[in-house]
Amino acid sequence: MADRPLTLMAVHAHPDDEASGTGGVLARYAAEGIRTVLVTCTDGRCGDGPGGVKPGEDGHDPAAVAAMRRKELEASCEVLEVGHLELLEYADSGMMGWESNDAPGSFWSTPVADGAARLAELMRYYQPDVVVTYDENGFYGHPDHIQAHRITVAALELVDLSPKVYWTTVPHSAVRRFGEVMRESGPDGEQSEPVEPVEAAELPEIGLPDEEISTWVDTTAFGGRKFDALAAHASQGDNIFFLRMGKERFTELMGVETFVRVRDTTGAALPENDLFAGLR
Ligand SMILES: [Zn+2]
Repeated sequence: MADRPLTLMAVHAHPDDEASGTGGVLARYAAEGIRTVLVTCTDGRCGDGPGGVKPGEDGHDPAAVAAMRRKELEASCEVLEVGHLELLEYADSGMMGWESNDAPGSFWSTPVADGAARLAELMRYYQPDVVVTYDENGFYGHPDHIQAHRITVAALELVDLSPKVYWTTVPHSAVRRFGEVMRESGPDGEQSEPVEPVEAAELPEIGLPDEEISTWVDTTAFGGRKFDALAAHASQGDNIFFLRMGKERFTELMGVETFVRVRDTTGAALPENDLFAGLR
């Protein structure tokens, strides 16, 4: 027990969520000698197929998409120097309301207790000091992200461990800044006419007011790694959007990763700038 390395466990829904959501902390903590464990719950079969074909369209073969995304995930983990990749291999449930929500083997239709029992096994094995996943809305409402949250909460109830626990989030200031940059440059990175600043009411309902964010981790030194990890998932249209920014702008916008601390046994003062504050 005493010789156990400090361990970060990130629980994600799909191949590529590790890069976009926590690529910075995975890379940074690995570089600091912390053991990193990535649990990816689904196979990503409802992602884009070759040439951007969507599920249900001609040329979208879910099994082939899952195989491709597994390779991309492994490449991303190499870039981020993830120590241990664990795959739960549930079928990607697709967006809320899709038929695939209820498909046999889909993560969304899997009883929470089943997924939680499997995740709890991994927690007992790795004994994480820090666990990171999404909030109860799955950050943006995707069923698999919500389910990842649910099985993580349930798994934590099953194990005799007291890790620090975090939900990923983004500060509203960053959402605003992102909107400004996108409007200045256009989504394709091309200059367009300057436009009015984004009104508060137009902001997407994601993230939190800055003052509600407990933990700000500077990962700008690893912005290039995070970008390269996302580039490993270039088959997915959502990621191409980010890749078009280029490394520099991407790092500027995505270089600080933010979290809400929801469980703590260390007493580390808030706000904190380190997921492992109080643990080392
Ligand atoms: Zn996802």
